[in-house]
Amino acid sequence: MALELRPNCEFCDVGLPPNSLDARICTYECTFCADCVEHKLYCVEHKLYNVCPNCGGGFVPRPIRPATEWRPGLSVAKRPPSTKRVHLSYSLDDIAKYSARIRDIPPEKR
Ligand SMILES: [Zn+2]
Ligand SMILES: [Zn+2]
Repeated sequence: MALELRPNCEFCDVGLPPNSLDARICTYECTFCADCVEHKLYCVEHKLYNVCPNCGGGFVPRPIRPATEWRPGLSVAKRPPSTKRVHLSYSLDDIAKYSARIRDIPPEKR
């Protein structure tokens, strides 16, 4: 099993290629860009607070899959990223309420 490396941010749809430093993922690989996690969803009305809008978990930077085949069979070309774009299925109001319920609980206790 390898990470899917989803191609876009679920919120703003910006492209997140396998070598992007801006991709953020939760354990289910819900994928957002750093700007959405840190700024766009982080505003007075719509706070995300390190709460994934889909699963309630926290986010970490997505590791970069090397383009170079340093070992046989392991590279972006040999194990290509997903091409299926994923889009957020909740409204900002819903996410704000959801995050408010969860954000004060540390990720390891959710
Ligand atoms: Zn985004
Ligand atoms: Zn998630």
